[in-house]
Amino acid sequence: MVPVVALVGRPNVGKSTLFNRLTRTRDALVADFPGLTRDRKYGRAEIKGHEYILIDTGGIDGTEDGVESFMAEQSLQAIEEADIVLFLVDARAGAMPADHAIAKHLRSRQKATFLVANKIDGIDADSAISDFYGLGLGEIYPIAASHGRGVSSLIETVLDPIFQFDDEQNSDFDGDEQPNNLDPFCDDSEFDNTESLINQPIKVAIVGRPNVGKSTLTNRILGEERVVVYDMPGTTRDSIYIPMTRDEREYILIDTAGVRKRGKVTETVEKFSVIKTLQAIEDANVVILVIDAREGISDQDLSLLGFIINSGRSLVIAVNKWDGLSQDIKEQVKTTLDDRLDFIDFARVHFISALHGSGAGNLFDSIQEAYDCATRRVNTALLTKIMQMAQDDHQPPLVKGRRVKLKYAHAGGYNPPIVVIHGNQVEDLPDSYKRYLMNYFRRSLKIMGSPIRIQFKEGN
Ligand code: GDP
Ligand code: GDP
Repeated sequence: MVPVVALVGRPNVGKSTLFNRLTRTRDALVADFPGLTRDRKYGRAEIKGHEYILIDTGGIDGTEDGVESFMAEQSLQAIEEADIVLFLVDARAGAMPADHAIAKHLRSRQKATFLVANKIDGIDADSAISDFYGLGLGEIYPIAASHGRGVSSLIETVLDPIFQFDDEQNSDFDGDEQPNNLDPFCDDSEFDNTESLINQPIKVAIVGRPNVGKSTLTNRILGEERVVVYDMPGTTRDSIYIPMTRDEREYILIDTAGVRKRGKVTETVEKFSVIKTLQAIEDANVVILVIDAREGISDQDLSLLGFIINSGRSLVIAVNKWDGLSQDIKEQVKTTLDDRLDFIDFARVHFISALHGSGAGNLFDSIQEAYDCATRRVNTALLTKIMQMAQDDHQPPLVKGRRVKLKYAHAGGYNPPIVVIHGNQVEDLPDSYKRYLMNYFRRSLKIMGSPIRIQFKEGN
């Protein structure tokens, strides 16, 4: 399970600065889902090839009294959702009453908490941080988020118990690894294990906003008789993994709508969790994004889509509640979809009714296709040939007066497929040419349902 790191602290201590530095995403997912408080930001971050999810809790209003009011509901919730909490304080401001209140709350939780003193640039760090030992949270990690000082080593330290960086440095490539974790830089010959990927169950996550019909679809796929009561305490954050077989292929459905309704009005709040959704995406091979035809594509759908694309997972889009719509409305919905989804050129779109069952079965053709495309083994000779054809059709531009030369290409990973291109000055290629290459590879390899990535390496 992808770990979750939450940033908490008073306003202005540097949480967003640290968040932006670590995620480098322009399109971090902002949780403005119904039933959840706004202004919590979620982003994907990476350390040494391992992914984690970062939550920026925005402001905790330090002007009020008492822990509960100090800590906005959304911050408290982020702390509960997180595996690790980074509690940021401002090394220049010293320990404030609000810091003490937050510390008190954190001490009462059984969470891995790290006290981080930010803004140590240009000041005497040792004397500045001594003020914070009184918070009773043990060791203090000094950083300067805006300069990046101490940031990598902080993240390495806090995530080491989960990823065990030291151990892995010594271990060889493990043929049993999940496709998502394949080291993108290892040699082509080490990818003979795709055979075994083919025989693994395909992990399919069903995600979407609240009420788009995820659980109806899950039940439809599994058959009506499934008992839909999962009344397990503590599972609000966890998806439910359901093994199933279809046409002799094995799947594991990752059901993000898992915590079921018990006739409560607050049902969407209970069953929808952004973290659960993001973790399900990270853990899946193929994601089915369910969209409600009657609501059109909302910004939330687009945020989720952005997150799925960043994750590199394969994608199938299910436009649900297609039943009972007039022909006019159907045309209208299709036009809007075309407009808003025109940046995704690889995903199949299905129009379905989870309630009545129409179209739901066909999803599996696309799931299968997406998975096969995402994990297919392509050898160096073929990739180099395609690269050469692309280069012959359309020469790379001059960079600094010299023609960029592509030399050869090899596979660098699967799910998503990664093509590594070696050559001279390849890193300086303009984005337009990189996109051209990507599309050329996509078309030549007939990759459908999966994004494809190209990495460039200087020299041989
Ligand atoms: P947030 O409210 O906790 O998210 O804080 P911000 O990230 O918005 O930062 C508040 C202010 O502190 C901004 O003006 C930042 O530029 C500044 N800041 C953040 N990190 C550092 C740092 O490491 N050093 C210095 N000198 N300023 C910083
Ligand atoms: P979830 O929150 O995404 O799991 O959504 P649910 O599966 O709980 O569905 C939300 C509501 O939409 C329920 O009232 C369903 O009966 C309804 N619904 C789900 N799928 C369809 C569909 O294909 N057509 C119609 N008309 N309603 C649907």
